[in-house]
Amino acid sequence: MTARRIVRVIDGVATQDGAGVKLRRSLGQGGFARLDPFLMLDEFSSDDAADYIAGFPEHPHRGFETVTYMLDGHMLHQDHMGNRGDLRPGDVQWMTAGRGIIHSEMPQQDHGRMRGFQLWINLPAAEKMKPAAYRDIPSAQIPQWTTAEGASVRLIAGEMQVGGDSHQGAMYGLSTEPLYADITLPADTALTVPVPATHNAFLYVFEGDLAVDQTGVPRHAAALLAEGDQVTLHAGSAGARLLLLAGKPINEPVVQYGPFVMNSREEIEQALRDYRDGTLAQDVATAG
Ligand code: MN
Repeated sequence: MTARRIVRVIDGVATQDGAGVKLRRSLGQGGFARLDPFLMLDEFSSDDAADYIAGFPEHPHRGFETVTYMLDGHMLHQDHMGNRGDLRPGDVQWMTAGRGIIHSEMPQQDHGRMRGFQLWINLPAAEKMKPAAYRDIPSAQIPQWTTAEGASVRLIAGEMQVGGDSHQGAMYGLSTEPLYADITLPADTALTVPVPATHNAFLYVFEGDLAVDQTGVPRHAAALLAEGDQVTLHAGSAGARLLLLAGKPINEPVVQYGPFVMNSREEIEQALRDYRDGTLAQDVATAG
């Protein structure tokens, strides 16, 4: 077994998206800050409605998947296919934009805490133009267990073997084989988690203190892991809570223009034309 160490840290930077939602972006600040197949990770966290109330009014996507994980608060997703997703604490929304989706993501509260993540996972060329798909995963459907070390794991996607038990996440069977786990460690505990050697992987610590290989991991930053087949997480005296993310790299050119992520400039220009012409999200709009 080879322990993965931290090779690079991408700090989260304050930015805004949508109609002015304040968030912290680690992966996805630019082309230099991606980890194939992951394109972007945004954390939103605020007790001040002014930071989130404007939401994300109607906008398009093409060529990848977006995964929203709510920790606190209430958001409503609506898209051109007629899906309505009421996202509450602990819920996940897994949206495959494929050839095109047009949707909005709007807060359903005017006070209180809003906290969560949005992750963008790339699609290989062969899947970028597949029909859009959408899945709501209520909190109760996310496998969750406590390890012998006392760690609590919520497995949103992928498979995990810990303590001789094998667990399957709520999402699986995707070509990038994403592993998406929300791990809470009690104070002064350690947990070793297998991470497939074929995958790129990173950690995102958002509560408490965590060390890997005796190196402290900054909070609110993407800590990219070196090659290996497992990672050992050491929580400090405040405990720790983190996301562990891993995915099989696609190894194709990435050309991004805002909400469109394709393999070439020509494909981006096509996406812009399709959006302008109203055919971006055509696959279901032609029904009837
Ligand atoms: Mn969106």
